[in-house]
Amino acid sequence: MVEAPDPHTVLVTGGAGYIGSHTCRLLAAGGFRPIAYDNLSTGHDWAVKWGPLERGELADGTRLREVMRKYRPAAVIHFAASIAAGESVIEPLKYYRNNVAGSLALIEAMRDCAVPRIVFSSTAAVYGNPQTRLLSEAHPLAPINPYGASKLMVETMLRDAAAAHGLIANILRYFNASGADPDAGIGEDHEPETHLIPRVLFVALGKEREASIFGADYPTPDGTCVRDYIHILDLAEAHLCALKRELPKGSISVHNLGTGHGYSVKQIMEVARRITGHPIPVSIKPRRPGDPPELVADPALALQELNWRPTRSSLERLIADAWAWHKTRHG
Ligand code: UDP
Repeated sequence: MVEAPDPHTVLVTGGAGYIGSHTCRLLAAGGFRPIAYDNLSTGHDWAVKWGPLERGELADGTRLREVMRKYRPAAVIHFAASIAAGESVIEPLKYYRNNVAGSLALIEAMRDCAVPRIVFSSTAAVYGNPQTRLLSEAHPLAPINPYGASKLMVETMLRDAAAAHGLIANILRYFNASGADPDAGIGEDHEPETHLIPRVLFVALGKEREASIFGADYPTPDGTCVRDYIHILDLAEAHLCALKRELPKGSISVHNLGTGHGYSVKQIMEVARRITGHPIPVSIKPRRPGDPPELVADPALALQELNWRPTRSSLERLIADAWAWHKTRHG
């Protein structure tokens, strides 16, 4: 006999990570009890402040079942994953192991422990090269890197598990998470850091000599890649909106989380120069394998169905918030 889930308890895999910790903060503010499940391979124990930390591997089904039976969560928000598109081209099997095999262990444990709902971190990388200027959820799914392919495989597993086992799955396809909540003492801290905004800010901090532009010959207005940058708190908030949405057993929903506005690598650097007051010298490097020229969301479905509004995602605000965080962390 499985005990009924506690409607206020949410298990957050990757809860010690960048998006996970910001989501735990908003969950706690919204009356939920977040349980962070993390192996601390890339997350930080200092980022777990709003509920207990349970250390464990995602692939360890025994440990997952133990934690699920202890807390009886009503939902899992699943962040734990390898996340660098460029690295995934060089080390694809790491992505299939951590993202696909890890998620399989999690979904099996959820089925066995009767955890009814999952909110899954998917990615714009499932779309591949855009065939339309804005990417809607109906755009063909044709990833061009193993990171995107691994996330698409998990989406497929969730679809089948929902149909067979009555699981409810909210799939959220993120565009480029950035910014920080410096008031909460948390922010982005990857080692090594591969993401554009922190790497540019490291130059302003004097940690790096110059910033790199990976390719200036793309078919975009200034030749550099265009991305849709979304403030981490807007992104985190969408998880609460998704969790609160009433859905019947066995249903899947898919939403893009982006702003609908794209900015190039050069535009990011320009705003970073203005905010930091540092000249930020750059050098042009070869293209990074696995990079589509442009990824910009059509967020209409999320706005309508999740009752969600990104309110903090101006480029100025998210770079200023990231700058405040990195100065505290590394300054
Ligand atoms: N990029 C860059 N220099 C860097 C880091 C990233 O030019 O030091 C580019 C990267 O090639 C991509 C964009 O910036 O076109 C955003 O990369 P990021 O790794 O931040 O996110 P992704 O879009 O890969 O998830």
